[in-house]
Amino acid sequence: MHELSATKSIIKTIIEECTKNKSRPEEIFIDVGELTTYKKASLVHYYDTLKKDDELLKDSRLLVKEIDTKIICNDCKKTGKIIDTTIMLCPVCNSGNIDIIEGKDLIIKKIKIY
Ligand SMILES: [Zn+2]
Repeated sequence: MHELSATKSIIKTIIEECTKNKSRPEEIFIDVGELTTYKKASLVHYYDTLKKDDELLKDSRLLVKEIDTKIICNDCKKTGKIIDTTIMLCPVCNSGNIDIIEGKDLIIKKIKIY
């Protein structure tokens, strides 16, 4: 269910942006990090449901790109992709001393307008 509130917040941002620029959105590109646990299909489903009630959004489309989890290791200084997010270790040296650099955010990348 938490995709519903995420979708509402995306919509709020789109409306604010488009109102400010006096534009109509055609396609909205968002990046969804794997660690957010948001399901792509649910986000699109909620978007398609909610947009029907909105004059500005009803012809627009939400395009979701799933982003893998990427880390930087504080021990070996390498960056790498985490394959299994239940085991958060450096894929190079197995250190747990890592920082997540990608995969934990939901970002509106681009709003394509008419
Ligand atoms: Zn490492």
